[in-house]
Amino acid sequence: MKLRWLLPSLLGALLLCPTAEAAKLKYWRFNSKQDRLDLITDARVRPTAKVLLNPTRLVVDLPGTVFGKPKTSQLIDKKIRVIRAGQFNRQTTRIVVELAPGYTLSPEGVRVRGLSSTRWFVQLPKPQRLPEKRVPKARPASIPVPPPQPIARQIPKASLVIVVDPGHGGRDVGAVGIGGLQEKRVIFPIASEVVKLLKDRGVNAVLTRSNDQFVSLASRVAQGKGFKADAFVSIHANAINMSRPDVNGLETYHAPGALSGARLARTIHNNVLRSVNIRDRGVRRARFYVLRSSAIPAVLVAVGCVTGREDAANLAQASHRSQMAQAIANGILAYFQVK
Ligand SMILES: [Zn+2]
Repeated sequence: MKLRWLLPSLLGALLLCPTAEAAKLKYWRFNSKQDRLDLITDARVRPTAKVLLNPTRLVVDLPGTVFGKPKTSQLIDKKIRVIRAGQFNRQTTRIVVELAPGYTLSPEGVRVRGLSSTRWFVQLPKPQRLPEKRVPKARPASIPVPPPQPIARQIPKASLVIVVDPGHGGRDVGAVGIGGLQEKRVIFPIASEVVKLLKDRGVNAVLTRSNDQFVSLASRVAQGKGFKADAFVSIHANAINMSRPDVNGLETYHAPGALSGARLARTIHNNVLRSVNIRDRGVRRARFYVLRSSAIPAVLVAVGCVTGREDAANLAQASHRSQMAQAIANGILAYFQVK
């Protein structure tokens, strides 16, 4: 039988190229403002992490992953000296975050979290300065890595409830920008259209106010709870400064540490950037009342700057506001995987 020959050669092939079925590290980046390492692989992976000493460093290993490039390193700042990434052995890609001499970090403060089995991030605590001439007392420690959080639970769309909050109304006009453009006049049509588009797709969507009226922050959040909502999306426009018409762009906020909020924010943000003519001012974390008081995924979309030359001109156009509403609604539908 030929099978007898086939088997050893197949085994041989597998042994010779142990990385044949390995995942590949597609993307890695260290954000030095947030002390956060982001990793994306093309197949599932479960990282391990540990803190080692002399010098103090965080070692993140991706078992079964090929780096596929020469070793690289990135110099960071005076607290975090360098990040190195490379192939540690045939099966493992290793990323090392090395602190500068005189700094230490608490292993208990390191968080390794999976947004999915192929997207992970490592949040470092702020490095701490060691007192002069003190030897670090820290010990090598391994960091627990919980399984990745599954992608948003799929809720049948008929039972999905989304609260859409136009951030200002009534006597509270919000920010006022170029040409007297009022925030409330920009965001109300967008929020209303988001609700209409979601309803057209069979999702229960509600506004925190149905006309131009004042609604307190507490009441907005309470409505999220009262409706047993699955997500809370607050719509605002930004105002920087009348002397900065050059500042324009989309910002989407979530509360710090809110994983599902972060994912919803990113999904909406990317949808808007893909289909609306607007600059990217990033997904950001903020302790806004409406975000931190929500038990459900909560985001705040700032649809542009009323004080920005480009954004103010665009936001004054109904067609631009419609595109914005469409993109926000699509982001919400994508997050909840509504087909
Ligand atoms: Zn606002």
